[in-house]
Amino acid sequence: MKLMYMKTQKNKKKSNINIPTIHNINDYNVLLLNIPDSDIIHIHAIIENGHIHETKETSGISHLLEHVLVNSWDQCKSFPCLKILYEKGIHCNANSGIDYTQYYVTLTKENLNEMLDYIITITTKAEIKQKYINSEIHPIINELKEYDNNPENKLLDLIHQNIYCNEGGKNLSNCKLQIENLKNIKKQDLIQHYNEHYTPEKTTFFVLGNIKKKEIINTMTKLLPQNSVSACSSKVMPCFSNSLESNILYNKWENSKIASCKIIYKTKDVLNYVDEIHLNFTLLCLQHVLFHKLRYKKKYVYFLKCDFNIGLCGTIIEIYYNCASKNIKKCNNSIIQTINKYKNGYFTKKIINSCKKIYIIDHSKKNHNNIDRIIAFYLNQYLRDKNKLINHKDVKNIILKIKNTEIQNIIRQYLNNEVIAYQSNKKM
Ligand SMILES: [Zn+2]
Repeated sequence: MKLMYMKTQKNKKKSNINIPTIHNINDYNVLLLNIPDSDIIHIHAIIENGHIHETKETSGISHLLEHVLVNSWDQCKSFPCLKILYEKGIHCNANSGIDYTQYYVTLTKENLNEMLDYIITITTKAEIKQKYINSEIHPIINELKEYDNNPENKLLDLIHQNIYCNEGGKNLSNCKLQIENLKNIKKQDLIQHYNEHYTPEKTTFFVLGNIKKKEIINTMTKLLPQNSVSACSSKVMPCFSNSLESNILYNKWENSKIASCKIIYKTKDVLNYVDEIHLNFTLLCLQHVLFHKLRYKKKYVYFLKCDFNIGLCGTIIEIYYNCASKNIKKCNNSIIQTINKYKNGYFTKKIINSCKKIYIIDHSKKNHNNIDRIIAFYLNQYLRDKNKLINHKDVKNIILKIKNTEIQNIIRQYLNNEVIAYQSNKKM
């Protein structure tokens, strides 16, 4: 596959990566992308269902359902399905998170129709059996114990308990509660949760690789259920709490030699993809300035990262770093001071120009060749705006056009009312 950005490529063979086409098949959302050079085919299903759709009593149910559904295909005669698919030479995996659950298989051509049947069956018309539940309980308990053993999880749990206002979000990293709940969640609860959330308008399929679109559409029309009942509303309730008791969250980490700290900003705005590019670019400039200030000028840190996550609840922006306990306060003050400076001033031309180059290089490195990256690139856009997809060239143009005033507006609009969360052996 060719890099689309390079002028020298202009007259050579056209890039094979085009924009996926958007289809509606039996009320389900479907994206199709033909990549003629590809040796493989990838079938992906993503469902709007995750921890934010849970209550305290059902916390962990979407994760259990994910494990159970992977096995809910009657062709896996001698179960578990993961083993059967692996023996057919098919790569299969799934994951569940705060807002979405995803199922994906990667295969070669000869398994296409049966794998369409597999993914469609488990996500739209699965028969949930007790034996699948029994066999997945222990792997999940072991998985949750692993997460819980990571000291990072204690800080995450503290953050989630405080920044979310709904029970599902609050208990996102509460592994102990989720392990306890696993003992009480019954088959009927899983079936009810499945029927409620695995509905056409909350489900998107993405099939890409060396495919003939017409054939895929025909097969999917036959396999997908018709006239499925729709969920009453896919809108998520407000998730973020507006009033925190304190904007400083502390977790004591007895034997730590170094403190870890996060400065968090949240907004209920679900940014579209173009706004996401603007935010991403702004954070890149900010990270550049903060990193050099705190690493070399102040000598407090080794690394510092600015990151963000956009989901159904809204947008969370995070600045995180590690440092000696005695320096946390100084680091935070320095970071907040710098942010305030850019609310009233601009980044220099030199910083803007170098960050534009870095952004374009990073984007090219990330997105062109790798099938997982292509999926993430287009699904990220589609899930927030079902009408318009942009390609890599558009991303480059957006970056080249971005102005200092737009960057300043993002800092003014989104970097307010920070929550500071840290863990260390003593309080700052
Ligand atoms: Zn799992």
